[in-house]
Amino acid sequence: LQIIKAEYTASAVRRDQYPESELMEIAFLGRSNVGKSSLINSLCNYRGLARVSGEPGKTQTVNFYTVLLREKQGEESERFPLFFVDLPGYGFAKTGGANRNMWSTFIGEYVEQSPRLTLLCLLMDLRHPGLAIDQKAYEWMRSHGVPLQIIGTKADKLKTAERKRNLAKLDQLFPGTFPAVAYSSLKNDGRDILLNRFRSMI
Ligand code: GDP
Repeated sequence: LQIIKAEYTASAVRRDQYPESELMEIAFLGRSNVGKSSLINSLCNYRGLARVSGEPGKTQTVNFYTVLLREKQGEESERFPLFFVDLPGYGFAKTGGANRNMWSTFIGEYVEQSPRLTLLCLLMDLRHPGLAIDQKAYEWMRSHGVPLQIIGTKADKLKTAERKRNLAKLDQLFPGTFPAVAYSSLKNDGRDILLNRFRSMI
């Protein structure tokens, strides 16, 4: 599978700003700085698509990207259009108080009101499985019945054995989700597994 097209479509802070479309949506959520922008860019093979921020916690909009997925072989192969939805990062110390409330409103509104949300990818740093704030995000999403894919990011920073161990830890800590995927945006590790998962959800 490959993504043959990816383009920025819209940013929203309220429901009435979501793009009007029947496309299914795959959303991405995680702590600020977990590597979410890098992962979206890596999946789409498009460096500048989502901003890789020097200023964590700054992006406070829900961003929609239209992507076109295709089986690798041949021009004739079937194409699958969908939205990638980039949700604001959580848990950065500087976005306390008002911003923290804003976060829950944003995510809450989106998750509760988007009928086409098909899969929510919850990103966690593979080096640190089970952070309290990630647990909270997981529990909240579980209570809303959203299909969840846990992704362990920055996998290239770990040796193979540790990678395996932490991946198993993620599966153990977060039951009821699809098997966790280790991802490296530097090396595009995990890309094929993830795209196949998305394809299977369509
Ligand atoms: P976001 O705030 O979640 O969107 O995170 P970014 O994508 O902006 O990444 C935060 C930092 O982690 C940046 O300095 C990235 O270069 C780095 N980073 C992201 N993904 C990876 C990865 O897979 N491997 C490594 N080594 N660094 C990464």
